[in-house]
Amino acid sequence: MHILVLGAGVVGITSAWYLRQAGHTVSVVDRQSLPAMETSFANGGQISVSHAGPWATPQAPLIGLRGMGKSSAPVRFSPTANHRQWRWMAAFLRECTPGRVRANTDILSRLAVSSHAELQMLRRALQLDYEHSESGILHVFSSKREFERAQARARTLQVHGIRMETCDVARCIEIEPALATSRRQIVGGLHAPNDETGDACGFTRALATACADAGVTFHFDTTVDSLDIHNSTVRGVAVRDERGVRGLLRADQVVCAMGTHTRRLVEQHGPRPALYPIKGYSISFPAGPKAPNVSVTDEEHRIVMSRLGGTMRVAGMAELGGQTITIEPERVRLLTDLAQSLCPDAGDFSKAEPWAGLRPCTPGNVPLIGRSRTKGLWYNTGHGSLGWTLACGSARLLVDLFDKGSSDIAFPWLTGKRH
Ligand SMILES: Cc1cc2nc3c(=O)[nH]c(=O)nc-3n(C[C@H](O)[C@H](O)[C@H](O)COP(=O)(O)OP(=O)(O)OC[C@H]3O[C@@H](n4cnc5c(N)ncnc54)[C@H](O)[C@@H]3O)c2cc1C
Repeated sequence: MHILVLGAGVVGITSAWYLRQAGHTVSVVDRQSLPAMETSFANGGQISVSHAGPWATPQAPLIGLRGMGKSSAPVRFSPTANHRQWRWMAAFLRECTPGRVRANTDILSRLAVSSHAELQMLRRALQLDYEHSESGILHVFSSKREFERAQARARTLQVHGIRMETCDVARCIEIEPALATSRRQIVGGLHAPNDETGDACGFTRALATACADAGVTFHFDTTVDSLDIHNSTVRGVAVRDERGVRGLLRADQVVCAMGTHTRRLVEQHGPRPALYPIKGYSISFPAGPKAPNVSVTDEEHRIVMSRLGGTMRVAGMAELGGQTITIEPERVRLLTDLAQSLCPDAGDFSKAEPWAGLRPCTPGNVPLIGRSRTKGLWYNTGHGSLGWTLACGSARLLVDLFDKGSSDIAFPWLTGKRH
């Protein structure tokens, strides 16, 4: 069977790899000239199994209201007249009840655990080099209330085998000495020793090379304009190259892994997947001799710091309403200031290179994986803030569904009834 994967981000490339390994003929199409040029390019680098929870929580509406229109708020909500935004927000609010949070955390944790195991197997089997580190993630807190809430959440993760050590301030500094010079008031931390970090872009490109060696065909600089549908069945996609020359790419099945852009493509044909972009920023700069080795998450300001070889990556900010990847200097300054006050000796902040990306978010953070309502069209998208963490498991799940119609990964996959 010939399968066309739309999108060469971390989700599209892992999908292509697992589909090819299952014996399918696979082609990948992307509008960029290399893999991982969009949201998978410079994310926070965390394989955060310990943090595989939804953003929709009982506290989220208040956090959103506090940041409404404020440029100094790490989480910012800018209301627009766009009906899609309001529909998505209404669905997000429905996911904020304690019952939905428990259900979504459970689903995401299971997928994250299996995804982590898949990533480790792939790394070993293919000797992939992507500046990975197995030093864990240390979540630090400035509010006692938030710290207590997080400890309760950590206890619920134990059923999935996710280990978290509760740490006082001295233990936090023992785990990551770079925090000793922090100008931030830290009340405690949670250390997830089994979590990892790594460069998602490096991983995606290394795996794309392995895909090409295994016989996957790539069409870069090729924009997908629409689906080619005949008798209610997808037969391929209408594309355009960088010179504007139009053509058709045919396939037996199509997997949509275009991140947030998936919605625009499939909406033309009826389905309305609940996907909305949440914009984030990162900065990358040379790591200093006292840079942290353990990845640190500042839970109050929702920023993450990961050392990727000789580079420090700091990522954060969440903007609902930011549809473009325009870089606002004010937001970059805020991210830099927050990072500098948390870890002043992390490296040469003056050389920070800014980047912005759009997280493809579903209201409850649970990605859309499986069959769409349109025959021949599959989804693997909507991984929001966790695409790097969940990519390998999502791809395994997709291939299980393709070949067996079910999977041993307990996940509410799509069965073609909705979306
Ligand atoms: C600031 C920030 C920090 C983050 N930190 C983390 C983290 O620490 N850990 C984690 O797990 N996740 C993190 N994430 C989330 C993660 O980066 C995303 O979930 C993931 O990259 C999404 O991958 P993707 O393949 O679905 O999308 P993308 O990487 O965006 O890939 C989609 C591909 O589709 C292509 N495309 C789009 N439209 C078209 C078209 N019309 N025709 C052809 N091609 C098209 C694009 O060129 C692109 O290559 C972070 C995200 C952000 C923004």
